[in-house]
Amino acid sequence: MEDQHTGGARDAIVIGGGLAGMLAATALLGHADTVTVIERDRYPENRGFRKGVPQARHLHILITGGQRALEALLPGSCAALTEAGAHRLDLPRDLLTRTPTGWPRRFDERRHHTLSVTRPVLDAVVTERARAAFADSATRVAVREATEVVGLTGDADRVTGVRIRPRDGGAPHTLTAGLVVDASGRSSRAPRWYAELGLTAPQEEIVDTGLGYATRQYRPGPGRAPDTGVNVPNWPGSPRGGCYLPVEDGVWMLTLAGMRGDHPPTEPEGFLAYSATVGDPYLHSLVSGAEPLTPVHGFHDTRNRRRRYERSGASPRGFLVLGDAHCTFNPVYGQGMSVAALGARALRDTLERTGGLLPDTATTVQREVAAVTDPAWVAAVGADLPYLRDAEEKRSAGERLTSWYLDRLAARAAVDPVVGAAFRDVFCLTAPLPRLFSPRIAARTVLLPRRPALPAPPTVAEAV
Ligand SMILES: Cc1cc2nc3c(=O)[nH]c(=O)nc-3n(C[C@H](O)[C@H](O)[C@H](O)COP(=O)(O)OP(=O)(O)OC[C@H]3O[C@@H](n4cnc5c(N)ncnc54)[C@H](O)[C@@H]3O)c2cc1C
Repeated sequence: MEDQHTGGARDAIVIGGGLAGMLAATALLGHADTVTVIERDRYPENRGFRKGVPQARHLHILITGGQRALEALLPGSCAALTEAGAHRLDLPRDLLTRTPTGWPRRFDERRHHTLSVTRPVLDAVVTERARAAFADSATRVAVREATEVVGLTGDADRVTGVRIRPRDGGAPHTLTAGLVVDASGRSSRAPRWYAELGLTAPQEEIVDTGLGYATRQYRPGPGRAPDTGVNVPNWPGSPRGGCYLPVEDGVWMLTLAGMRGDHPPTEPEGFLAYSATVGDPYLHSLVSGAEPLTPVHGFHDTRNRRRRYERSGASPRGFLVLGDAHCTFNPVYGQGMSVAALGARALRDTLERTGGLLPDTATTVQREVAAVTDPAWVAAVGADLPYLRDAEEKRSAGERLTSWYLDRLAARAAVDPVVGAAFRDVFCLTAPLPRLFSPRIAARTVLLPRRPALPAPPTVAEAV
């Protein structure tokens, strides 16, 4: 028979102790009596890779919106990441991004910077700081490693807890709580668990360009590290892309990406040869002399997928879904971790605004999570739709006009500091999408003549 541990209305359970899970547990501090984080993996020694986050082999950047949310929840985290070796790349000065019309001007804008660091180090720094916050809080937090959530308890009206199974083969348990947060990432089984409760799975939207990733770490030869990160993304007409960024300890990561049927190979010679076929030869010239440090790792699930848990009647009370379990994005836009952090911050802000954990907290927060996710979803899907011919054919005249406008705006952003700043504000998740349609930005985008970007990577930054 199953053992049972009973928690009350002010107890919370978090499924998954990854980025979203640790930040959700942090958000609950001071608002719940206890928080139990259930993590399938054991945390590795020495800030290492773990199986539960397979995407951690690939480039991960943390953009401004995510940095701000992380700081709000765990102050001092960005400095701790820098101390752990993260590179602070000012945009666009320190990250040259090739566009279809050439290389953008290298404005020294100092408005946004991105943090570039290996994902295991980022997760370890956040987890260490979260654990320190747990230790200082009146809320008692337990992190149960090597334990898997295998189902929910309750009914279609209310989730009352989880069924868990220790991975060492111990007896299964049922834990009950007033709030269950699913932060189990892209492999979340919540839709299946809904069926077991007699609920229909939430409506799911998928926009999939079929992009495949492959990544390898390098050490540039002495004196051969570039001054800036280099990004040559794919664009319609140039389906292969790559990004080369510094991480900790003088190491650089090269991620290559290609569309369905044209994924980068994971054998070393093929991988290097593929880097010569992206939309600009500069990337290959940087990598070809560098010393490879790791095997090449692939990753193919890059779809944008949003589950509409927030819709009226879609979810039982007491159940909240955050991070990738709620919404995944095409990773080339570097938004997923930031949206996970913004979702956790929405949880904390709602708890503060409404005076703590209430029977309807999950329902209220799920709507907030949907709202903070929406701008990133619109940006990623809007950028991906031109790759999908079927979707393109079904688009209305208004959608086609928006695409035309955004394409023109992206080209203008490469050469115009005013439009460029607005573009970065939106893609770094610090300003809402309408910023791109303000009269000033629209006038510069539509009325000024279309100008190509630079023919070669700029070596000198320009004051703004
Ligand atoms: C190739 C690639 C590159 C990316 N690059 C970027 C980038 O540059 N910038 C960016 O912001 N985002 C990027 N992302 C997105 C980013 O990886 C995710 O958005 C982020 O990891 C989401 O955090 P999470 O906590 O929701 O999920 P995860 O980090 O995946 O964590 C989920 C956790 O839940 C645990 N778990 C799963 N199931 C269970 C269970 N049943 N019981 C208990 N525990 C469970 C797992 O072990 C894991 O610890 C990228 C994604 C991919 C695929």
